[in-house]
Amino acid sequence: MNHKISRRIFNIGLLVTVAVALLGGILMKEWIIWVSVGIFALNFVQQLLFDRCPHCDEWFSYRSKEPDFCPRCGKKLD
Ligand SMILES: [Zn+2]
Repeated sequence: MNHKISRRIFNIGLLVTVAVALLGGILMKEWIIWVSVGIFALNFVQQLLFDRCPHCDEWFSYRSKEPDFCPRCGKKLD
């Protein structure tokens, strides 16, 4: 998977996580909140696996903005 797609899924996943958690809070259903925790965990794992430099495999931290150049090997990222 492309690192940009992975980053996009991660951002959407965060929104989904928050929306599901809010829904669980509003409905007072604890299991829905656990579903949101599960979505967050899966989303984090996919970002960890796929949001990487295609050249040197450096992981782009989810905290940093989407880079144009790899911070480790300096190659341009498409
Ligand atoms: Zn790199």
